[in-house]
Amino acid sequence: MSSMCKFVFVTGGVMSGIGKGVATASIGKVLQFRGFKVSVVKIDPYLNVDPGTLNPIEHGECFITEDVWDFQPVLESDERSYRISEIDQDFGTYSRILGIEMHPSHNITSGQIYLSTILSERKGRFLGKTVQLIPHVTDIIKERLMEIAEYEELDVLLIECGGTVGDLESSIFLEAFRQIKLEYPKRTAFVHVTLIPYSRAVGQQKSKPTQHSVKMLQSLGLQPDIIIGRSEKPLDHDIKRKISLYSNVPENAVISNPDLEVVYELPLLFEEQGLGDLICELIDLKAKLVSYNEVTNYSEWVKMVELFKDAKKNIRIGMPGKYFNISDSYISINVAIEDAAAHQGYKTELKMINIDENTKIEEQLKDCDGILLTPGFGERAVEGMIKSAEYAMENKIPFLGICFGAQLFYIAFCRKYLGLNRANSTEIDSKTPYPVVDLLESQKEISEKGGTMRLGAQKIIVEKDTKLYNAYKQKEIFERFRHRYHIQERFITEEAKNKGLLVSSRDKSGKIINSIELNRKDHWIVGVQFHPEFKSRPYKPSPLYFEFIKACIACIKSK
Ligand code: GLN
Repeated sequence: MSSMCKFVFVTGGVMSGIGKGVATASIGKVLQFRGFKVSVVKIDPYLNVDPGTLNPIEHGECFITEDVWDFQPVLESDERSYRISEIDQDFGTYSRILGIEMHPSHNITSGQIYLSTILSERKGRFLGKTVQLIPHVTDIIKERLMEIAEYEELDVLLIECGGTVGDLESSIFLEAFRQIKLEYPKRTAFVHVTLIPYSRAVGQQKSKPTQHSVKMLQSLGLQPDIIIGRSEKPLDHDIKRKISLYSNVPENAVISNPDLEVVYELPLLFEEQGLGDLICELIDLKAKLVSYNEVTNYSEWVKMVELFKDAKKNIRIGMPGKYFNISDSYISINVAIEDAAAHQGYKTELKMINIDENTKIEEQLKDCDGILLTPGFGERAVEGMIKSAEYAMENKIPFLGICFGAQLFYIAFCRKYLGLNRANSTEIDSKTPYPVVDLLESQKEISEKGGTMRLGAQKIIVEKDTKLYNAYKQKEIFERFRHRYHIQERFITEEAKNKGLLVSSRDKSGKIINSIELNRKDHWIVGVQFHPEFKSRPYKPSPLYFEFIKACIACIKSK
């Protein structure tokens, strides 16, 4: 291997969902502060090829990348390829904190690895050999990592392994990490992010679960160099000493990662504890002379964190939807709203309205300063979501509909203003007399579900003198898509136009409507088929979310 890329492996201890993604990105950030070119790979040990077919309630949001990747399980062969643009939500965290775009091949799943292994065997790539987890599967894992490290000319590649040490599914990846460490001992560091629970009964932070999880790592031949302790409060001296002793890690390598009001503060906290220098020492990184930009400069980051902390005035945004059983089904949307609000001095309170047949929409929405109608799939909760759009139109509450949310806003408009009572999307009611939302032409022949939607970034042609144009101030923009259905132009009659419906953007062929709005001076209401939330960054909010929040603030002030 020619490149000198270094590797930082991040594993999880005790339980998942403790913010390993934020910790990984924050490690990357302290390296960026030192001028290094970093990127992240996330390993998801499940057998799905990508998370696109997973229910959001099961898995949380799917992050959509700019590019769509043609994944070829067997390189240089006639084997079919698979389109991938839907990846793990942790990539949202990485992109926001590191300000970099990552290719979909950075999300490695067991599904991809085993598909490559088995199809390669059929092609005769291992001719004569018994195909085994070691070395064949581990070789495929290592090749995927090395390819990224070399091709992207990185200084450091961070590799986060999903799940928790001890999971059967992830053990083959940990074995590949062990082999990389063996091959390049001076170029690899291991970070273990683990939970340090607090026992109220004894009034102490407890290290025992961490001791067990480090033992488990050691039994796989891996010794952590650094332990990051996730806890409610900062780790006290005693617990750091204890973890150090039992885990065979120096005390200064036990790092505190307490709950934070503003997560973007974590890189600063890591810096204060000397984590950046420690990693540089471990993998022999020499300081670089580079020019910094607003994303990689330490003092700019400090200023940005202050901006978030100073945002104190309250704004309440109602989010009618149906995937609220876990908190991160709409994580990029939540964060895009928070980014836009913070930059205008506001702190957001998101009112997540999990719609079922008993939900009283008006009751729920009447104390909201704005409504964001969420993306989604399938029939459940749809009537309540349509009612929410109707409520916004009647009461002139600032409204932003995202993807499904835009389609349902259009249905609400057709029912309310055009008298098309049973107007619907054919996704919801295939027999509707008014299919105002219907399959995209390109989708009509497709039956396979994985990776087949209209995906990735597409060029959008924006109409002047619209709310959309006011937000972006550009005639051409690129935003990311993930849909099968779209708004049908034939229902936008003269009557619809007279009642205020306006198409504010289309695709470059002019055939796909990418956004609609109501041409009202006294009401900000926009529905977009695309997902601007994936491009919102804490230092640069999405222009559309910014305008939406601006309209909500204006509405609060006029009350
Ligand atoms: N279900 C809708 C479609 O496929 C909307 C998808 C979404 O909200 N991302 O077009």
